[in-house]
Amino acid sequence: MKIYQGKSILKGITIGKILYYSKEEQMVQRRSITDTEAEWTRYEEAKEQASKQLNALYEKALKEVGETGAAIFEVHGMMLEDDDFNDSIKNMIEAQKVNAEYAVASTGDNFSLMFSQMDDEYFQARSADIKDIAERVVRILQGKNADGELGDEPVILAAKDLAPSETVQMDKSKLLGFVTELGSSNSHTAILARTMNIPALIGIPVSEEMNGKMAVIDGVKGELIVEPDEELLASYQEKKREEERQRELLLQLKGKEDVTLDGKKIRLYANIGSVGDVARVLANDADGIGLFRSEFLYLEKDTFPTEEEQFQAYRTVAETMAGKKVIIRTLDIGADKQADYFNLDHEENPAMGYRAIRICLDRPEIFKTQLRALLRASAYGNIGIMYPMIISVNEVLQAKKYVEEIKAELDEKGIPYGDVEQGVMIETPAAVMISAQLAREVDFFSLGTNDLTQYTLAIDRQNAKLDNIYDSHHPAVLEMIRMTVENGHKENCWVGICGELGADTTLTETFLKMGVDELSVSPGSVLPIREIIRKTKIGDGGF
Ligand code: PEP
Ligand code: MG
Repeated sequence: MKIYQGKSILKGITIGKILYYSKEEQMVQRRSITDTEAEWTRYEEAKEQASKQLNALYEKALKEVGETGAAIFEVHGMMLEDDDFNDSIKNMIEAQKVNAEYAVASTGDNFSLMFSQMDDEYFQARSADIKDIAERVVRILQGKNADGELGDEPVILAAKDLAPSETVQMDKSKLLGFVTELGSSNSHTAILARTMNIPALIGIPVSEEMNGKMAVIDGVKGELIVEPDEELLASYQEKKREEERQRELLLQLKGKEDVTLDGKKIRLYANIGSVGDVARVLANDADGIGLFRSEFLYLEKDTFPTEEEQFQAYRTVAETMAGKKVIIRTLDIGADKQADYFNLDHEENPAMGYRAIRICLDRPEIFKTQLRALLRASAYGNIGIMYPMIISVNEVLQAKKYVEEIKAELDEKGIPYGDVEQGVMIETPAAVMISAQLAREVDFFSLGTNDLTQYTLAIDRQNAKLDNIYDSHHPAVLEMIRMTVENGHKENCWVGICGELGADTTLTETFLKMGVDELSVSPGSVLPIREIIRKTKIGDGGF
């Protein structure tokens, strides 16, 4: 048994086997692709290579163990040519526009399950074979030829570091938790872990030796326990059951209103990064979505998402939320969120660089495509548009001008759109200081406390070395929040918080007393915050 001390990202407990992840040894990721023909060709080439490998294995086995032992490779070769198996892969690539690795792995899983459920023992035994074949082809597609041993069971992922673009593409149903050596608690990878409600630790010295070992993440103490002894494991299993009981209790708050003891209705919304996160929003009964980080749609892809693809994503979210507010933030790419196809230059200081609204206003073809998709989707629900990294009134006026231009275009073509509220992220000290003027131009403010802390304290949120002094409770940050609320309210602008600080239960009462109207938090934090809102009396405020 070995215990490592790290820093916790989410206070949960998880138990499972470790998968050591390096850039060379990846899990099967789901990627959206556009060129389905090229993807099918990639598959055919990989299949041909797999077939050659199987022939070689057959010949080798024939020499070493004889006809009966070698027959299995012949069977594998035949299964690889099976029409149903190949049709399923082709169909998945074409209909779902996914990468070949994902289509092969999913088809392998489906067929293997189907075989395992057959009555005949012979076919049941083929279940493992079909998995073997799929794994072989996936390894070839990933450029790895050695027989690896990646399992299908959910794992605790151990990695040196994870970029947001890697995390967003992982199959989340296979993740029990993350441990990384690098990274900071305010990085987007950490935020994604919170959105997925997955226990995660940073600052753990990970190594390949951990691969395959049983482990526990204790998100309360910030510990990773590798190969816990029986007694400790049993005590963690009990703690996990207790956590589940607590969760059951919180679920009793589902359907209850977010109203303080003295009657103020608070908008309690959730943050999402993808369409798939909406299920968690509904399961946790949030009253809306206060931040959809739309840039993750761009990070999932290897080329710009088209207007139609974006429209479908925004429309699905708006329709699923059935009239509840869905605030979609326009592209906030740059800094730690990089997509190669944007061809952004390397910068010395990307957090203060060419990013977010700056790129959008500089490259209107990208911005207008997104705005058109957003406006079209607004006909199907209650969409709000939010602009990130604002530092001037002029930026807001320019963005609003594009919105008006696009509305005129849509009118001309008879394409419907709804009433959209427009708002800005308040995440730079400049935006706070000019919030009185900004409030005249928009319907709402949403405080991005992650960046606001970074820029106010001059502490890079990505820098793990500074994690201990990155203090969102700093009086300067709290005063900025108070000031923003005051200035917003003077102009009838509602004010929310969508940064991670909004989920800090030690500050919920303070925020409500400041007059904050909305809190948008990771889905798993909705019910704990609801519990506090319902027990809080605002009185005359008085922060
Ligand atoms: C923030 O800065 O607080 C915020 C919500 O935006 P992001 O974390 O995506 O930068
Ligand atoms: Mg931000």
